[in-house]
Amino acid sequence: MPKDVFYLTTPLYYTNSIPHIGHAYSTVAADIVARYHRVTGSGHAHFLTGTDEHGPKVADAAAAANMTPKAFCDEIVMRWKDAWRELDVSYDQFIRTTDPAHEAAVQAIFETLRGKGLIVAGKYEGWYCRNDETFWLERQLIDGRCPNPECRRPVEWVSEDGWFFKLSSFRGKLLEHYRAHPAWVQPRSAYNEMLALLDAGLEDLCVSRATVEWGIPLPGGGGTIYVWFDAICNYITAAGYPHDMQKFSTLWPADVHLIGKEILRFHTVIWPAILMALELPLPKLVFANGWITMEGAKMSKSLGNVIRPADLIGRFSVDALRYVLFAQAQYGTDFSFSEEGMLRRYNAELANDLGNLVQRTLSMLARYRGGVVPAPPRGQHAADYDAARAKVASALDALDFRVALAAIWERIGALNLFVEQSKPWELDKRGDASALDAVLYDLCEGIRWLGALVYPFMPSTGEKIWAALGQTGVPGRTWETTLRWGGLASGTKTAQPPALFPRVEAGV
Ligand SMILES: [Zn+2]
Repeated sequence: MPKDVFYLTTPLYYTNSIPHIGHAYSTVAADIVARYHRVTGSGHAHFLTGTDEHGPKVADAAAAANMTPKAFCDEIVMRWKDAWRELDVSYDQFIRTTDPAHEAAVQAIFETLRGKGLIVAGKYEGWYCRNDETFWLERQLIDGRCPNPECRRPVEWVSEDGWFFKLSSFRGKLLEHYRAHPAWVQPRSAYNEMLALLDAGLEDLCVSRATVEWGIPLPGGGGTIYVWFDAICNYITAAGYPHDMQKFSTLWPADVHLIGKEILRFHTVIWPAILMALELPLPKLVFANGWITMEGAKMSKSLGNVIRPADLIGRFSVDALRYVLFAQAQYGTDFSFSEEGMLRRYNAELANDLGNLVQRTLSMLARYRGGVVPAPPRGQHAADYDAARAKVASALDALDFRVALAAIWERIGALNLFVEQSKPWELDKRGDASALDAVLYDLCEGIRWLGALVYPFMPSTGEKIWAALGQTGVPGRTWETTLRWGGLASGTKTAQPPALFPRVEAGV
């Protein structure tokens, strides 16, 4: 039986800091996709997120806070969960890499690969960046320092016994997979970059750390498992591998891993090789989002230019933030964020275009028809709305959020124009009751569709519109049954919703 659950994941976030809007961007993207899949098709999604809690960086941050690593993570994890609650993120599962079930599963995976001769003993000598927990080759160093542009810290020479995953032996199979599935890594630039990396050759990967204490113990002793090997396995351990294969079969392979482009190599080279080693199918898609920049620089903790989601939610609203992050740029590309830009879009696209349309429609219905939906006219708008729904669906299937929003805003624009051209107030003055009924019906039915279509992006806005129109349940669930032109029953009693997007003044 083919699985009917759409399984999607975010990166696991590292618990040495608290979320900024860059993290919100990846996670809200996943939430939009999850909500979309819950209101279409089979209606089932499994949305996994969580935290990556091991490694020396976390141990150092905990020591600086005078706490044990576990107590430190317990506290930070609350902050991440709070942030997701404030952003209306509807994850189905939150995994922590310190969960005992995950730790046991990672040890079992390690043992399986060691048993197959795919993890072997060796000696590692090389330049190690403690901050990035990454070994670098001599030729990769820049002026003798870590080549990561966000780090550039001094590296140290490390020589230790370790266990190596035989990554190099998967190069041929990886290349084969890349050539057979040219869309499996997106955007295209990411695919090309990783293909070039594979072409250049692969080294085996040291997957143990003799001197790192805060990690999953190596089976048999001798240190801990490399934090990246530990963390990346979460996508299968959370799904039940290897201890609950019944659950696993309903979820795996993942439909999409949403990641940031800085962790592409781990997800599109190392991770598929580990899955191949375990003889498991690969995820269907890995999609890397771009970076949010501030005046040209990537937002990051180390650069001190982070924006906290809570500040923007406080000034605008959670839905406004969710909208603005995705209306601006094609998913997968970098874009520059500014609060002034957000203010402009908020007042124009949310307060004026959408908020006023809903408010106006429902107040006219209240004034002219006592808030009761009149009988539907002939369905001359069905084709426009069916086309909009198809456009939104195909854009969301391709994770092209901006195009999906543009298709919705095209409908909003058309409805605003319809109000101006049909002039309901004149129809009322002239006493043309049947023409007025027809216009009011089309407007109400139009905003019902809008409530459903915006819901994955802006859940509470969708819910407010839906409730104002006397509809029950999750807005638009499911599109195949609710989004048919004329679905709004005549006689439905409507209510005035609270202002969806009250204007925000500049400079406060
Ligand atoms: Zn570094």
